[in-house]
Amino acid sequence: MPPEPATLANPDTQASTSVDSDGHQTYRLGDDFAQLRHATIMMVDDEPITMEVVQTFLEDAGYRKFILVEDSVQAMDRLREHRPDVLLLDVVMPEVSGFDILQMLRGDEEFSHLPVIILTSSSDAATKLQALDLGATDFLSKPVDPSELALRVRNTLAAKAYQDQLAYYDLLTNLPNRQLLQQRAQWRIARAGQEDRGVALMHIAFDDLKRVTETFGPKTADDVLKQIAQRLQSLLKVGEGKDGNEIDSHVSGEAFRLGMVDFCVLWPSSNDISEVALAGRRLLELMQVPFDADGTEVYLPASVGIATFPDDGDDPAQLVRLAVGASSQAAANGGDRMQFYSAEMNESSLQRLRLEADLRRAVEACEFRLLYQPKVEVVSGRIVGTEALIRWHAGDTMVSPADFIPVAEETGLILPIGEWVIEEACAQMTRWRDAGIHTQVSVNISVRQFYESDLVGVVSSALAKTGIVPGDLTLEVTESLVMGRMEEAERTLRRLRQIGVRVSIDDFGTGYSSLSYLKRLPADEVKIDRAFITDIADSREDKALVAAVTFLAHKLGYSVCAEGVEEPAQLRYLQKIKCDEFQGYLCSKPVEPDEIADRLRGQADKV
Ligand code: C2E
Ligand code: MG
Ligand code: MG
Repeated sequence: MPPEPATLANPDTQASTSVDSDGHQTYRLGDDFAQLRHATIMMVDDEPITMEVVQTFLEDAGYRKFILVEDSVQAMDRLREHRPDVLLLDVVMPEVSGFDILQMLRGDEEFSHLPVIILTSSSDAATKLQALDLGATDFLSKPVDPSELALRVRNTLAAKAYQDQLAYYDLLTNLPNRQLLQQRAQWRIARAGQEDRGVALMHIAFDDLKRVTETFGPKTADDVLKQIAQRLQSLLKVGEGKDGNEIDSHVSGEAFRLGMVDFCVLWPSSNDISEVALAGRRLLELMQVPFDADGTEVYLPASVGIATFPDDGDDPAQLVRLAVGASSQAAANGGDRMQFYSAEMNESSLQRLRLEADLRRAVEACEFRLLYQPKVEVVSGRIVGTEALIRWHAGDTMVSPADFIPVAEETGLILPIGEWVIEEACAQMTRWRDAGIHTQVSVNISVRQFYESDLVGVVSSALAKTGIVPGDLTLEVTESLVMGRMEEAERTLRRLRQIGVRVSIDDFGTGYSSLSYLKRLPADEVKIDRAFITDIADSREDKALVAAVTFLAHKLGYSVCAEGVEEPAQLRYLQKIKCDEFQGYLCSKPVEPDEIADRLRGQADKV
């Protein structure tokens, strides 16, 4: 995994430099020393003791990031890997000397400007001259004097920050420029490739800015450009940590100024085109608010063009070209819109946006219904409960929860939807109760609903309103929900069980299943995912797995329900291993509440 490139190009440096009010990171002209201290300092010296001493002195001076390289043969590789901000280089080393390294650096496009401070015990002027000829930035004599060392390093870094500023930043907006975009895109693409993720390059053009210049003059146009830059930065702050200063450079986007009236955003994505579409749309929305041109409100429609890695290519220059082409098309279609480079993506992003808009409407109009699938006791074949499964009727079409729940989750619409599901399931239980029927109901809880809504409050109030016995309501959560948030999940689950509702671990086996999670989770039931049940009659592995999970879950005090049972042979095996319950087409698909009532009545009559 390549680390992010240095200074301008070094994300490590960037990530730790503080973010100013513009949300701007990295070194800048006039930055105080506090920021320079985040620089990455690399040392190459065959005597580890010297490096340790230098490091100690520099640590005393406030520096924190060091890369020590003892074997000079590895120096170039390590440089490429870490891309430091300054290099302290010993001259006399076996195999590859400091001069050799200096020569290689200066001949390498990537490092031709890297500041190099030569450490030499030689007071000999000829050596120094030779180093200067080879492009050394400064010297330090060994043994090193701590205050002189701190001074040289600081001056060198300050000079580099100045150079960086001139070379890589746009003076007006303070945004990084096209050169830096090239480097950053290269780095992000390499990294995304290794992590099997995507990168989106968005080109944003404001063709009407020319009008502002013509009407109000260049100074006002400059002012509007600064406002655009600020809005871009505010959008990209999404990637920041909650405390507002910790930026995970994997997830946050970066904005660049490309030309007179256009900008670029590099946006990391999880290969999911809908995420990119959402980011693009936020960007458009942000630019729809009028700008202030010398006291006059002006509207500047943005045209956004998007090209993505890996789908559209892996060369930054090519991606820029494609994104520019796409934004021209967006402009030709009237502006204030985004356009993906490829038609296919454009279509799927449109579909996704349409779905989102429809879903918003559906929430207002409450176009949802719950169907109920029986949960059946394995030994007796009796229905002992039901699972509420949501359906969305959008006009004549029925949209599957598999298609709209992820969108609802992404947009936050799952919060009102999820609340409705809980209330409706409880209300249905009272309707059944009034008809003389008693059954338990399980409802599915999504991740966001679990963490972002007042789940305990919603559940308590639904129970209070309907007078449903808490033990008749089960909440199904998936095991992925606890990933990385075990303690928080445990706490909420415990509170839910305290009020008396049951908890079930849904789709067990599909997430990051670990039986050790099971041990810690306060739950009552484990539902083994359909994927393990489908081939259970023929597959020895699946048989063994399901038997082992059932055995263990029982030992830990959970009841076990198998999902997706369609054939008698599957059921026979579940009987054999003493699985408690099953769901599946073998008994029934999800059906209307009336049908559940009929079946429960029929069952009662038989007794
Ligand atoms: P789930 O909770 O694991 O529900 C089981 C899914 O498997 C249901 O699909 C059900 O219809 C289907 N199924 C049941 N038995 C069989 C079978 O024998 N064969 C086959 N092939 N399929 C079977 P459905 O209703 O489409 O729901 C899909 C998923 O959507 C659910 O998986 C659940 O994760 C989610 N979901 C459904 N309703 C809600 C809801 O109200 N809230 C939330 N957050 N998620 C829901
Ligand atoms: Mg479920
Ligand atoms: Mg399930």
